[in-house]
Amino acid sequence: MKYESTNPIATSPSSADEPQARGSHLRVAVRPRPDKKRLEALYRDLLVELGEDAERDGLVRTPERMARSLCELTSGYDGDLETVLNGAVFPVEGYQDPVLVGDVEYYSLCEHHLLPFFGKMSVAYIPENSIIGLSKIPRLIEMFARRLQVQERLTSQVADALEAVIAPRGVAVYSTGFHLCMAMRGVEKQSSNTTTTAFRGIYREDDRLRSEFLRFTAPSR
Ligand code: ZN
Repeated sequence: MKYESTNPIATSPSSADEPQARGSHLRVAVRPRPDKKRLEALYRDLLVELGEDAERDGLVRTPERMARSLCELTSGYDGDLETVLNGAVFPVEGYQDPVLVGDVEYYSLCEHHLLPFFGKMSVAYIPENSIIGLSKIPRLIEMFARRLQVQERLTSQVADALEAVIAPRGVAVYSTGFHLCMAMRGVEKQSSNTTTTAFRGIYREDDRLRSEFLRFTAPSR
């Protein structure tokens, strides 16, 4: 695996330090259901503009498929923290060590080109009074991944959402991403991987905890 050589571990932007800024990017209004017929018409125009015959056999149902597929790939806008978690937050006593859910696959669309980026995300937290149902962590990742994204924001949203929901002592997120907009066009770096991390609470202060987390998650170079 090859990494971007300039800055292999990009931390989340410093504005994310502000509690207000952290909360605000989690509050995405649940969207009104997209008009599929309108989307289909737009896609048909797009095909024509590209010089295609939108009525030929292979393409005639493509606008319909594209509309359905785009709605699915952006279905994260249809959810919010409450519906995704569905009450799966539980009190815990006497457990003060990290809980780590590793290598969760995600697929997202970059907001600059609407091309896919995908990779794996590992999430750890150290509970204070509450834990979250383990299956909810992949759900949380999926809710944020199925929106138009940049990897940096996706990573910090997952950390901030966990912080907002269970107020743990600390959260750590490690994410790798392979961006088709980099591989297929532009610089055409076909094997480069982007790594982002987000640390909150005690993970910011404690080097030992942070290195332990990275030892479990980051592949050795
Ligand atoms: Zn892009």
